[in-house]
Amino acid sequence: MIDALGRNIEYMRISVTDRCNMRCMYCMPHEGVVWRPHEEMLSYDEIVRLCKIFAALGISKIKLTGGEPLVRKNLSSLVKRIKSLDGIENVTLTTNGLFLAQQLDALSDAGLDAVNISVDTFDEDVFQKITGASGVQKIREAINKALTFENIRVKVNCVPLKGINDDSLAELALLAKDHRLSVRFIEMMPIGLGRQFEAFKEDELKTLLEKQFGPMTYFNGKLGNGPCRYYTVEGFRGKIGFISAVSHRFCDKCNRIRLTSEGFLKTCLQYNEGSDLKALLRSGKDDEEIKMCIRDTIFHKPEGHHFGQTFDAQCSKTEEHKMFQIGG
Ligand code: SAM
Ligand code: SF4
Repeated sequence: MIDALGRNIEYMRISVTDRCNMRCMYCMPHEGVVWRPHEEMLSYDEIVRLCKIFAALGISKIKLTGGEPLVRKNLSSLVKRIKSLDGIENVTLTTNGLFLAQQLDALSDAGLDAVNISVDTFDEDVFQKITGASGVQKIREAINKALTFENIRVKVNCVPLKGINDDSLAELALLAKDHRLSVRFIEMMPIGLGRQFEAFKEDELKTLLEKQFGPMTYFNGKLGNGPCRYYTVEGFRGKIGFISAVSHRFCDKCNRIRLTSEGFLKTCLQYNEGSDLKALLRSGKDDEEIKMCIRDTIFHKPEGHHFGQTFDAQCSKTEEHKMFQIGG
């Protein structure tokens, strides 16, 4: 579907839960969170019904996220149901990897197209400091196992944190040397707890990696559904990417919307604008009425974020939810 600014909205991130088995310092409070009751989350039937409506409006690519999506029971059954809908070309997953290895067979059978594994370091002490959990070995196993499925594209996502995982970044990038995967560095976004951290700038990190691995050449082709800028490095099988929403704003090309686990349709990461689709579903609206609401909401998608501008702190529409509630 085309929005008022002519952008083709074809990609939706669906958060299937706000629960998580980690407490990443930039995403979820260490002291814990009061979980929303299960009844407030969309059921799988509700998610599938909405996906069918979204698909009719031109959404063809779905990413399942959370919280940690793999803590929700039988996620592969949801993948299978969404994948079988007319118009849906691509179902992918983003996960912290802790529960991935044991679910990969079922996810592959269900038709999963790609998996993004988030890991910020392979140093167990630093990992525990960042995530409040242990499990570097499990994540390594999950990455290795994912690579054995030829039908699943694999990406590794890392959030560089100044003064915390600086020494781990080159080691993570090296995964792309020997394996058929891309490693992407995601710039910290000033959302929720992320506001407390200084972002590692893309240009600075690129210079640092080039010192170690040699020149990085901009890759002009298309890879994946999003705004990542990819580079090739001589001798590397995979690519190195940067997703830099603040320093290299990409709102003019934004193709995405988000559905929270509570069924709220969000049209821009920064703002709380959108529509409560759960309320429509549960008040007995028919598909046509829901479709009209979605169409109107997408049409009015904001022009873009204003991270870092004074306007953003003052704006009453600024998102106050944390990243685990939004889904990244
Ligand atoms: N639990 C899953 C995971 O970690 O991949 C899915 C949800 S998580 C919110 C999705 C992605 O958002 C992760 O790669 C995480 O590192 C990233 N993220 C969380 N907070 C962020 C922030 N403030 N800025 C940039 N990325 C963030
Ligand atoms: Fe959980 Fe992912 Fe947030 Fe980490 S980034 S706390 S793994 S939802």
